[in-house]
Amino acid sequence: MSFAFPPPPPVAVPVAGSDHLFAVHRVYCVGRNYAAHAREMGKDPNKEPPFFFLKPADGVVPAATAIHYPPGTSNYHHEVELVVALREGGRRIPVAQALGKVFGYAVGLDMTRRDLQLAARDLGRPWDFGKGFDESAPMAPLTPASRWSGPDRGAITLHVNGELRQSADLADLIWPVADTISFLSDYYTLMPGDLIFTGTPAGVGAVVPGDRLLGRVEGLEPLVVEILPAL
Ligand code: MN
Repeated sequence: MSFAFPPPPPVAVPVAGSDHLFAVHRVYCVGRNYAAHAREMGKDPNKEPPFFFLKPADGVVPAATAIHYPPGTSNYHHEVELVVALREGGRRIPVAQALGKVFGYAVGLDMTRRDLQLAARDLGRPWDFGKGFDESAPMAPLTPASRWSGPDRGAITLHVNGELRQSADLADLIWPVADTISFLSDYYTLMPGDLIFTGTPAGVGAVVPGDRLLGRVEGLEPLVVEILPAL
């Protein structure tokens, strides 16, 4: 037996300071993980636990420098996030063992067609059109966990055209990284190659073609992305 046509290559994220690539399996995303962002979306952070959605693995843009304005939206938003990359998977992973499963960390953007996401949310429909589209997950190269002081604390910021839009600290996460991995592993069999976008701080907003985004997490490779005109 052979493939009817050549299978697509895996999406591969470079590892900073090495020749290695990280092959992406799945992309999990936390919905609301900073209290101030939950409030700006009109929700009470104390009332509901964080929840999850997924993006397609090929929505990741590894070592991104530019992404296209997507079709079907007139309210395209930035969400800067800490991205966790797993080197090992498992089921029912205890919190105390969760960080041992992590290969590394990166800065990522959970790009969002906010108009489509909110319309779906308000109608009780799935978020896929708002969240899981082409080029919706640009990422910087990964930094190995052994070479970073996180993930319990560290500044996370996003600038658009030099102006500060999002600013928080990883210490503000409602669900820390270890808790998030453990929770997910109660619902999914986690695998090497899984990415987890850990949620965005307050200050999300719209971008347009020509805008230049700078995402930073203290101690990790920065992410600089230009928004290109629609294809
Ligand atoms: Mn997000």
